[in-house]
Amino acid sequence: MKCIFCKNISDNCVSIEHIIPESLGNKEHVLPKGVVCDTCNNYFAVKIEKPLFELPYFRSVRFRNDIENKKGRPTLDKGIIGGIVSVGKDEQGLHIIAENSGVAKGIIDGSIKHMILPFNSEPDSNDINVSKFLCKAALESLIYRVGPVQEWLDEITEHPQLDTIRNYVRYGSKPSFWEYHQRRIYQEGDEFFNEKVSSETYEILHEFDFFYSDEGELFYVLVIMGIEFTVSLSSEEISGYRRWLIQNAEKGPLQTHDEMRVRSNPKDVNSLIGKRISFYTPEI
Ligand SMILES: [Zn+2]
Repeated sequence: MKCIFCKNISDNCVSIEHIIPESLGNKEHVLPKGVVCDTCNNYFAVKIEKPLFELPYFRSVRFRNDIENKKGRPTLDKGIIGGIVSVGKDEQGLHIIAENSGVAKGIIDGSIKHMILPFNSEPDSNDINVSKFLCKAALESLIYRVGPVQEWLDEITEHPQLDTIRNYVRYGSKPSFWEYHQRRIYQEGDEFFNEKVSSETYEILHEFDFFYSDEGELFYVLVIMGIEFTVSLSSEEISGYRRWLIQNAEKGPLQTHDEMRVRSNPKDVNSLIGKRISFYTPEI
């Protein structure tokens, strides 16, 4: 067996590759051992996923949605109180970890009265970490979609037309930036109802699909918590998808849900996010 990225023999590898990181709530979309070798799996964890999670949006979205990291620890976000502090939440509410003793003292003695907890609603566009993550997920999702059948694995691993995107992800080879398209297609926390799927409403953390445009270009579309990301597997440019969207009245390939509703009960703590939070000092 060969790794689909570096093409080295991966028979003895033990890593199970998560197409979407576990730390974004993915337990379902994984690839069996050896499809991605241990070295590449480790490279992606350190060089792609770690920087991705340090982006304010991804940190913030994990915090808002109570998504734990791989080790089961809750995500902390950053709040602003005369400096940056870490903010966590649990059933009792928010808790603040202030490394600066002056800030900590100010909160306790009541001289600091407010904190800003930003709401980062979207990642910056044209981010190299998002680009590399999407290209990695695109190649892996191809395998996931066709199933780990040896014939298909060989086809995808040896396909010269996929070498540019493969080497961009794994070795940082040219092009210097693989373009992607990003837009919100539904709100974070929206729930769906489809009687063919379930008798109850459900939230979609992520979903993906592939399609060929009329121009013969292969696109990968990944939706994570309402944000649609698209890359082309045929070209480092994304202009083909923009043309396709115009022809299709801006309706993306994954916007086919029968019914949609907005979540009606935001958690109490979450309703504080994006607002100015006041502290009070209890009277003793
Ligand atoms: Zn490899």
